[in-house]
Amino acid sequence: FESRFDLPHIRDVFPNASPIPSTFCLRMRTPTEDFAGGYPSDEKWHGYINNNDRVLLKVIRYSSPTSAGAECIDPDCTWVEQWVHRAGPREEIYFQPEEVKAAIVTCGGLCPGLNDVIRHIVITLEIYGVKKIVGIPFGYRGFSNEGLTEMPLSRKVVQNIHLSGGSLLGVSRGGPPISDIVDNMEKREINMLFVLGGNGTHAGANAIHNECRKRGLKVAVVGVPKTIDNDILLMDKTFGFDTAVEEAQRAINSAYIEAHSAYHGIGVVKLMGRSSGFIAMHASLASGQIDICLIPEVPFDLHGPHGVLRHLKYLIEMKGSAVVCVAEGAGQDFLEKTNAKDASGNIVLSDIGVHVQQETKKYFKEIGIPADIKYIDPTYMIRACRANASDGILCTVLGQNAVHGAFAGYSGITVGICNTHYVYFPIPEVISYPRAVDPNSRMWHRCLTSTGQPDFI
Ligand code: ATP
Ligand code: MG
Repeated sequence: FESRFDLPHIRDVFPNASPIPSTFCLRMRTPTEDFAGGYPSDEKWHGYINNNDRVLLKVIRYSSPTSAGAECIDPDCTWVEQWVHRAGPREEIYFQPEEVKAAIVTCGGLCPGLNDVIRHIVITLEIYGVKKIVGIPFGYRGFSNEGLTEMPLSRKVVQNIHLSGGSLLGVSRGGPPISDIVDNMEKREINMLFVLGGNGTHAGANAIHNECRKRGLKVAVVGVPKTIDNDILLMDKTFGFDTAVEEAQRAINSAYIEAHSAYHGIGVVKLMGRSSGFIAMHASLASGQIDICLIPEVPFDLHGPHGVLRHLKYLIEMKGSAVVCVAEGAGQDFLEKTNAKDASGNIVLSDIGVHVQQETKKYFKEIGIPADIKYIDPTYMIRACRANASDGILCTVLGQNAVHGAFAGYSGITVGICNTHYVYFPIPEVISYPRAVDPNSRMWHRCLTSTGQPDFI
């Protein structure tokens, strides 16, 4: 059975590539007959992941009639498309550790946990027996001919890097064309590439994977999705998101205190979320201090009779203060399009936070009610944080599984967590468009229940 979740493998290009026994020491206790769960002692059991293991994409079964209006697990999928490949160490590997030169690159913006992932990629590579591990400085730019030198990595180098935020290797946007990147990889004799980044970076990683295939190079390219916005398809969550929500709560709490302590105080907090409002929604839910949450997925009116400003007036009259949380990609229709693009070709958004702040000021002046408006944009403070405990664990497992995937011979894949299990996806399946908050979802309605906000249309 062929599925769109089948993973590209080195064997697709090198049919004669023969595997060797894994050099990764599993350290599992050999099960005996009295082992809990009762593995028969003659059965082969070693703890490695079987290549045929799968994880179910969606685990809910709706009955009819239901709020979801569906009867089967996922009516849009054939059964094979409901299963994705399980991540983890394989019994057979397709690279001799001593022949591996592994490189790690971090691209795009900062995100809590980058150093944790780098660290665990290095540590796991060393456990496999890899001696040549390097970091590429400043994203894909490090593959250009600007003379940026690679950074030798080892357990000693990475031991404490997770104690601070940012990326040991540096990040950047833009960079050389794919063919130059692969030229550079050939020159440096890199045959395992770990790419940490968002949608753009993964599009690049997939193009590098394809170019390597075209050139007949035995190279494994494995991505680790980095999106603080949590907007990657099919995944439970991506690293950095949890930390971002936790830190966003602090900003919300400050805005609340400022608003609450002022006469007719209004706090406005802008949070990350270019195309999806997961951070704003979760931070609002977590803090319990937000009166109005605005996200890109849900259109709203600012000035109209049912608009945000009227509701703010109502809140000020009713309880004397209010706190608004707005995702950066929300309400872009109100703003003048800049048409500007960053080095990676992403459209530069206009600042909705400042706009909401200014319009609120103007509005209260016009209606003759005094209001004290405070604006907080904690974006860079959040992005630069070190990962919290739960992200730390997620990063650890993702880093380890990235290395297992490369040694297993997969390329053009990325790692993720799906229904609490760790999985591999073919890159194109997760980057075709960003994951968004469903305005009909339970979670968004829980958020509305928590803020008490009306529909602003
Ligand atoms: P973030 O979530 O921080 O935006 P990102 O990975 O999407 O992360 P980008 O700046 O968009 O960040 O892209 C990172 C790198 O990927 C850049 O070096 C860019 O040149 C490259 N890139 C972006 N889009 C593509 C593409 N379609 N094909 C090849 N490379 C790409
Ligand atoms: Mg991007």
